[in-house]
Amino acid sequence: MRIIVSEIPQEGLEKEFELPVTLEEGGAGHTAHVKMRAVRFGTRVIVDGRAEMGVSMSCSRCLKEFPHRLETDFRDEYLPFTVATGGGEHELKADEMDTGFYADDEIDVNELIKEQLLLVVPMKRLCVSECRGLCPICGTDLNQGECGCAAEEPDPRFAKLSGLKERLKK
Ligand SMILES: [Zn+2]
Ligand SMILES: [Zn+2]
Repeated sequence: MRIIVSEIPQEGLEKEFELPVTLEEGGAGHTAHVKMRAVRFGTRVIVDGRAEMGVSMSCSRCLKEFPHRLETDFRDEYLPFTVATGGGEHELKADEMDTGFYADDEIDVNELIKEQLLLVVPMKRLCVSECRGLCPICGTDLNQGECGCAAEEPDPRFAKLSGLKERLKK
């Protein structure tokens, strides 16, 4: 979405649009739904809104694909490039707002919105918070039922070995 700064009306500009996003290089494309508002204060523009995107992820524990909804509220500030580099005319504030720059009266909001969606991708991707994962021995999905591996007697050869270890310790 491109915004022409000089065309932002006094009361602000509201936009609703679809934004194509790829979460990882070479990965599947997704479409984010974005609702935003741009307000202009001289040459400074504040863009805020909300982006939502439905994605499919694979569970870190059981590897199953599951749907997940990424949602983020954003509030970005845009400054003309010349002001930002104009030797201390404008002090960049270290507040919580992300700052972008624009040139030629035109703002492209897509990159900052994409970045913010990437930030809400969970590090730990679980299909359900209590996912039991796969049995490390036989690979059974333990959410579907027990496989019996854990209940089995330890291998007698290992039992002997650990007995040997015990003796070596003494
Ligand atoms: Zn899972
Ligand atoms: Zn098993």
